[in-house]
Amino acid sequence: MENRRHHKRTFTGYGPNDMKKELSKWRPEVVELWEKCSVPEAIDKETFQKSFIRHVNTTLARSIYNVDNFSAYQATAHAVRDRLIQRWNETQQIHTERDQKRVYYLSLEFLLGRSLDNALLNLGLKDAFGEGVKELGFKMEDILGQEVDAALGNGGLGRLAACYMDSLATLCYPAWGYGVRYTYGIFQQKIVDGYQDEFPDYWLNFDNPWELPRVDIVVDVKFGGHVNKITEGDTVRHEWVGGETVQAVAYDVPIPGYGVKNCINIRLWSSKPRRKFDLGKFNAGEYDQAVQEQMKAEFLTAVLYPNDNHMVGKELRLKQQYFWVAASLYDMWVEVRRFKKSQRDWNEFPDQVAIQLNDTHPTLAIVELQRILVDEERLGWDEAWEIVTNTFAFTNHTVLPEAMEKWPVPTMSQLLPRHIQIIFDLNLFFLQKVEKFAPGDRDFLARLSIIEESTPQYVRMAHLAIVGSHRVNGVAKLHSKLIKETIFKDFVRFYGPDKFENKTNGITPRRWLHQANPKLSELISETLGHKDWLKDLSLLKKLEESVNDKEFRRRWIAVKHSNKVRLADYIRDVMDIDVNPNALFDVQVKRIHEYKRQFMNILGVIHHYNNIKSMSPEKMRNVVPRVVIFGGKAAPGYYIAKLVIKLINSVASVVNKDTNIQDLLKVIFIPDYNVSVAEIIVPASDISQHISTAGTEASGTSNMKFVLNGGLILGTVDGANIEIHEEIGDDNIFMFGHLAEQVEDLRYAHRYRDVTMDPHLNAVIKDIESGSFGEARIFAPLINTLTFGKDYYLISDDFGSYLDAQKLVEEAYKNEKDWAKKSILCTANMGKFSSDRAIKEYAESIWGTVPVEV
Ligand SMILES: *Cc1c(COP(=O)(O)O)cnc(C)c1O
Repeated sequence: MENRRHHKRTFTGYGPNDMKKELSKWRPEVVELWEKCSVPEAIDKETFQKSFIRHVNTTLARSIYNVDNFSAYQATAHAVRDRLIQRWNETQQIHTERDQKRVYYLSLEFLLGRSLDNALLNLGLKDAFGEGVKELGFKMEDILGQEVDAALGNGGLGRLAACYMDSLATLCYPAWGYGVRYTYGIFQQKIVDGYQDEFPDYWLNFDNPWELPRVDIVVDVKFGGHVNKITEGDTVRHEWVGGETVQAVAYDVPIPGYGVKNCINIRLWSSKPRRKFDLGKFNAGEYDQAVQEQMKAEFLTAVLYPNDNHMVGKELRLKQQYFWVAASLYDMWVEVRRFKKSQRDWNEFPDQVAIQLNDTHPTLAIVELQRILVDEERLGWDEAWEIVTNTFAFTNHTVLPEAMEKWPVPTMSQLLPRHIQIIFDLNLFFLQKVEKFAPGDRDFLARLSIIEESTPQYVRMAHLAIVGSHRVNGVAKLHSKLIKETIFKDFVRFYGPDKFENKTNGITPRRWLHQANPKLSELISETLGHKDWLKDLSLLKKLEESVNDKEFRRRWIAVKHSNKVRLADYIRDVMDIDVNPNALFDVQVKRIHEYKRQFMNILGVIHHYNNIKSMSPEKMRNVVPRVVIFGGKAAPGYYIAKLVIKLINSVASVVNKDTNIQDLLKVIFIPDYNVSVAEIIVPASDISQHISTAGTEASGTSNMKFVLNGGLILGTVDGANIEIHEEIGDDNIFMFGHLAEQVEDLRYAHRYRDVTMDPHLNAVIKDIESGSFGEARIFAPLINTLTFGKDYYLISDDFGSYLDAQKLVEEAYKNEKDWAKKSILCTANMGKFSSDRAIKEYAESIWGTVPVEV
């Protein structure tokens, strides 16, 4: 209990019944005033302009003569924020009043991007506000461009969490997200001499209008100390005492639904020192040291770890995880106390609360809830565990071995002495059941154990998450099948298959079509005669009927072209390179990772380049001009990934200035890929590459974004590519490469047999080694991954079919009419990949929650 006693949390109780009771005590004039002063639901231009000017004068303390684009952005954002807060309040009130089961989505990353445009569109204020700022002398476009991304995530996993929040709000589920308010988001990438350079992303440099600081919501989180075992009669209880305390302060980020009044919340925790500090040191004259110790607390949430699909075992990361999970559970516990007041049985807890674990990062929440129930609520162990397992569900995001989270037992014992005891006890009881299930099978036991019996021992977080959850899901059909057959095979044998499900990822069509591609959105709405497709994406299917309409196709092509012009303008602005918008735009943007095989792409580019160079002028006329666009960040410590970036830029600098190939090939590496950049790139692609080694990309979500925007895919039989293929049909996608079930044998062959390399690939490697793209020795470690490294990602096995597929792309692109048809059919058949569909599936089969509309 000790760490609870210090908490400064005051529960303000936003229950409407409390409020009505409270208000009835007041004089009627006061009540009337209160109601009059609440912000009106401004939809008209004039109300907005008044609000804008008021915020310039008061919030920004500026005069009318001193408003630049940035101030205009701030004033507009604050005018929107006023409306968001009102909706937020109403939503929380109604959700409290209705008291339906709630979902808490725990994610260490939320890759939200910008908020203003999204809020304007979701609230239906864009036109009125656009007119309003125009009359005041500003362009909405310029104002929107002022906002910095909220980049509190690495890539797909963080962006998924953001899309899911949009759907949870739009579908009116009573849901909250919990995350960490990093002072520094994902680093900013600059390209210097072809290499990636990292710069800190101090995104809070200016006031952030999209968060509401809750200085009154402060939770003490404890680390270290020791555990006292207290015997009372024939019961034993544990008391966690001593150690250091860090405070978690809440910042709320409102997430408005589209076309509804619901506005849900992401609560992000920021660490801060306790106000009280070591008086002993203070009195001894070591004031500065005492302050310094306190300062360390702030460091806890300073920085997002920049690794995607890769575990880095830093102690600070484990501290971040517990800090966030402990604060979030305590916060939910406020709800639980409400729950306790209502005298319901604890066993009903899982009927009130569902907690979804986005990957293993929040797995300690399982242990923390067990600790609260057993140590603080004094429930029996088994009764508590029943409640815990019925509350949690776990989403697995990868099968890559290097991404599997495990923490050394000694580190965890130091930081969380009571939790490690609980983990060992849980494991003991779990393994007792396993032993009964498979008597004497020591290997089976060792494979399932939460503890890896090495020196030192490790806690396997995925195992803990499975044991502590009632449902485990993968994120695409193939991935969910693979986890059942590989990494979690033994668990399937033990629990039976029903605990394991598939929930294919989705993306929000609001941001990824309506916001990112306004012209296409308009064309679709006009053609379908409604905007309902934005809330029911399966309605896009009807676009199929227009595929033979010549005028419709012409407009479809024109929209794509104008998006390509927009991207070409962006490339000119940031890189000072001109690209031809009539060329085929061939895009691969995503985190740079060996399994995603950007290396294979650039090797293919070299092949293509050499091919063009060898052509006669007549033959050259048959080549489709192509702009190959790359983008993505490499983890700062990922040497090979960073070399891939260097190779791409080295190839670009040779190709882009080679006048012999005319305008037939350009290679572009767009720096600092993030959500806002994606919103410009995605609508402009003709073809995008999703070419991971089969079985390695759990789902992918950018594949969905591109196809929804009428871009075709060149992809492997992996992740959600497979389901996209199922939906859009053979004619509208270019698939190639070996299958997941072949990967093991192929790797075995590379390891133990002499495999002859694909001759085209061999020629490309020789070319790099001859110094065609700068000093060959720079790239030796990269080339070694194919040779000495035994080509783990099977580039040599897929290279031939990759080049063949690229040829098919080129041929197909020459037929503008057929290409336009393919493009339309792509968009028309993407209904399944809305995050709305995914969230409904989670709600129905895992959470058991129902919508509560404001
Ligand atoms: C969607 C998205 C991703 C995920 O891309 P994948 O190709 O699915 O890995 C990564 N980063 C950003 C900025 C995104 O918007």
